[in-house]
Amino acid sequence: MSDSPTKAPVPLTVLGAERAAVAAGLSRQEAQYLLQALLNVSRAWLISHDGDPLDEATTDRFRHWLDRRLDEVPLAYLVGEKEFFGLMLRVTPETLIPRPDTELLVQWALERLDGPRAPRVVDLGTGTGAIALAIKSGRGDADVRMVDASPGALAVALENAGRLGLAVDGHLGSWFEPLAGQPLFDLIVSNPPYVAGDDHHLDALRHEPRMALTPEGDGLDDLRHLVRAAPDWLRPGGWLLLEHGWDQAEAVMALLRARGFVDVENRRDLGGQPRASGGRWPE
Ligand code: GLN
Repeated sequence: MSDSPTKAPVPLTVLGAERAAVAAGLSRQEAQYLLQALLNVSRAWLISHDGDPLDEATTDRFRHWLDRRLDEVPLAYLVGEKEFFGLMLRVTPETLIPRPDTELLVQWALERLDGPRAPRVVDLGTGTGAIALAIKSGRGDADVRMVDASPGALAVALENAGRLGLAVDGHLGSWFEPLAGQPLFDLIVSNPPYVAGDDHHLDALRHEPRMALTPEGDGLDDLRHLVRAAPDWLRPGGWLLLEHGWDQAEAVMALLRARGFVDVENRRDLGGQPRASGGRWPE
């Protein structure tokens, strides 16, 4: 009987580590991604140096990452970053990991900002700052605000802004609360917690902050609050754009219409599900 690859003697080689990870259940692609991040090298380097030994500290770190990955810790938390809309963002367990589907909200926001000069924009529940920073990167003249109720998340968002050289402001607090005294906005955007409290998907998301994923109950409480309060903060003609669950589009569009928004519509995500709804506050 040959030795189990997970018991490979120290030091592991690059290829040995990759094989150990694959034997433990990771895909080859994930194993290589982990090693690239661990060694801070390109994939080409990894492949051409597969016989190189890892030193003991790196081997230990690799084993630790592998164990955590097998416990379903998302790769983005292990490597500490995630790309969104072409921006490399730092992520920590205090922030939701930006999802590719959320890029549609950014695209939609940039379309709606086509008219006004130096538009005022706020991203409520910004997390890593993904939406706000992507909007700012697409519209350099926009005055963009990031709001989050989690001090840890807001710190990450501000750090991301600094690292990317994007001049945006951060406000700590719940939804509109910390904006008191601010002039009205041309666009309010949010990807709030919207997963229902008893949704079994939350089990698979147990490493992400629960408060970023669910307001508990039917999942609509924060969306209701945002639709109700947004008109007090919108310039006439301004837009409110909201991400929501795949089965919440009808409910959110009904909330928007009932509140008095016009031009209410929704946008579909990469999987073809209605994933964001929005409307315009009449002039
Ligand atoms: N789209 C995320 C998910 O389903 C949820 C994000 C959110 O609640 N805002 O994993």
